[in-house]
Amino acid sequence: MIIKKFTFNSFQENTYVVSDNKKCMIIDPGCSTKEEETILSQYIDDNQLSPIELINTHCHLDHIFGNSFISKKYNLKPKMHKKDLPLLTNALNIAKHYNVNLASPPLEVEFIKENDNIQVGQTVWEIIFTPGHAPGHICLFNKLHKKIIAGDVLFFMSIGRTDLPLCNHADLMNSIKNKLFHLDDTVEVYCGHGQNTSIGFEKQYNPFFRDLK
Ligand SMILES: [Zn+2]
Ligand SMILES: [Zn+2]
Repeated sequence: MIIKKFTFNSFQENTYVVSDNKKCMIIDPGCSTKEEETILSQYIDDNQLSPIELINTHCHLDHIFGNSFISKKYNLKPKMHKKDLPLLTNALNIAKHYNVNLASPPLEVEFIKENDNIQVGQTVWEIIFTPGHAPGHICLFNKLHKKIIAGDVLFFMSIGRTDLPLCNHADLMNSIKNKLFHLDDTVEVYCGHGQNTSIGFEKQYNPFFRDLK
């Protein structure tokens, strides 16, 4: 199993391609220019991967820039949590507000929810519902390899913003304390921005959780 990370668009968002046995899933395609689209599709071509899943951890702009491109090119319906639908349906307005170009993201999507499993080759990814930074935020957890793709919930020494519309700080803190921090300390966290971290490291050093010690 390989997790390949790309950092795309003006928000420095991390896009992940998870592959196993020549199948792959694309998580949060943030490619926002032709060059970034080429970098992503070239990697898929070079490794002879067939994309079978397109997943959005949540529907903030920086995580869906490439939805239109990926969904058309590989004929995939994006999968996301139902509660993030307002972010998706408002995405074009939000893009206008930020003065950035967004190719209309497909609105025909499939919904995923807590405890659903996504299979890629031999690997299984469990959906964990982690609202707060966005109302329908989800993480993808691989129990066997002890990896979690955590979107904008938990970062290296930081947490997701909650000053945007539809954010809820208490929900975010609950998601981290009661879901992510219940995972094994050795679980490696692949963040939506910045470097990887681990559950154990964040429990120990994340300044937002000083009270846990
Ligand atoms: Zn976000
Ligand atoms: Zn983000």
